[in-house]
Amino acid sequence: MKNMTLENIEKACGGRYIGTEAEKKTEVLGVVIDSRQVESGYLFVAIPGEKVDGHKFIPDVFAKGAAAVLSEQQLEDPAGPYILVESTTKALRDLAEYYRKSLDIKVVGITGSVGKTSTKEMIASVLSEKYRVLKTEGNYNNEIGLPLTIFKIRAEHEVAVLEMGISEFGEMHRLATMANPDICVITNIGLCHLENLKTRDGILKAKTESFAHLKKDGIAILNGDDDKLSTIRQVGDKEPVFYGMEEKMEYREDAKKSVYATGVENLGLYGMQARIHTPEGERDVRIPIPGEHNVYNALAATAVGLSLGLSLDQISSGILKAKTIGGRTNLLNTGSMTVIDDCYNANPVSMKASIDVLATAEGRKIAVLGDMGELGENEKKLHYEVGEYLAKKEIDVLFCAGELSEEIAKAAQKESKTCEVYYFKTRDALLEQLLPFLKKGDTVLVKASHFMEYPKIVKALTDCQ
Ligand code: ATP
Ligand code: MG
Repeated sequence: MKNMTLENIEKACGGRYIGTEAEKKTEVLGVVIDSRQVESGYLFVAIPGEKVDGHKFIPDVFAKGAAAVLSEQQLEDPAGPYILVESTTKALRDLAEYYRKSLDIKVVGITGSVGKTSTKEMIASVLSEKYRVLKTEGNYNNEIGLPLTIFKIRAEHEVAVLEMGISEFGEMHRLATMANPDICVITNIGLCHLENLKTRDGILKAKTESFAHLKKDGIAILNGDDDKLSTIRQVGDKEPVFYGMEEKMEYREDAKKSVYATGVENLGLYGMQARIHTPEGERDVRIPIPGEHNVYNALAATAVGLSLGLSLDQISSGILKAKTIGGRTNLLNTGSMTVIDDCYNANPVSMKASIDVLATAEGRKIAVLGDMGELGENEKKLHYEVGEYLAKKEIDVLFCAGELSEEIAKAAQKESKTCEVYYFKTRDALLEQLLPFLKKGDTVLVKASHFMEYPKIVKALTDCQ
């Protein structure tokens, strides 16, 4: 890794090097916190986790050929050099910040309440048409995941697309310090993490902490249809680039969208079609992932692509190749039915977006929903509203489980004349009734917050064929 000698690492994290002078010049070949991922020449960062303390593995990692260790504890007779620091989690961040700044690479940082991973995948797909891209794997978006992603950047990479997720004030400041983005994308200001951030204005404030850490000539690319984001006039000494839908322009004239979509056509489970307008011309694009929100993700990717010099042909080709990752509107065809696996996470915005996708299905439309977490004091009301929304959408059957989901069931029961509603206290009780209920040709949406463990339902549905 360029510039990552033990000498520089010692300086970057303000630690104390303990080892020979000769070894100080060694450049490490990788940085990891999981001892199982250590390879010869790597730096192992010992993190005191909740369940296991990484320091326990220090002898093992030296046996595996680690070049050095970052430790919070003094080591007796270690088998190699180490750097003693006060906090290894802070050292991990300081080191990521140093390493990122030593690299000649463009960084795109993505944040927002909903759609970060999906937007990140779309942006990476587009940029891969011109550049060698490193992207956050899966959802590695927090104060541990982000530095580990930054350490994966190598000399061959030209652009890094990094997801940044937060749940409290100050966190974005730490993430953006490490990422030091050239381009900052914010997808929306929704209702996640209300427990800590209290209001949507609180969320806006927390997300925009990232602006202070943009590169000097950096730009912000923002969803102009978001009522909070569209109030932002200036980021650094520049105006933000807004994207959104043309039809929402009249009442948001203030936020001038330079990238916008017209003629949005919903191809149901097969994705979306739209015409994207940009200062450099227009293109009809096919977005192979269902849901109107993916038009927004494609617009964000278009704006990022243009700002990094891609042609419209490259952009539309990258959009066409975009894929989802497991649990995010992931279509699974079991042979007899279609499962929309959207159970990675859920909040009111994404719940409604997924119900929209289900509503376009042919055959029986079955929503299998569960609780949404971290919604703060209005959690019951927000669940009730999902039920009301569903009732308006011609969904044939609703199965739900979980304490809060009772509100979804109540609302659907009350507001819809046609939807069959089944409520269960637990996921397992739901599953027991769901499996014999299903018929050939059904489309089943499975969605809930992570803690409900709805992937077990998806697995049962795909296994039962
Ligand atoms: P997390 O905070 O868990 O990392 P995230 O912000 O990365 O979540 P995704 O995993 O991309 O969000 O998307 C979650 C779900 O939200 C998707 O399955 C999809 O249903 C929906 N979604 C994706 N993009 C958007 C968007 N731009 N606006 C609203 N909903 C979206
Ligand atoms: Mg994510």
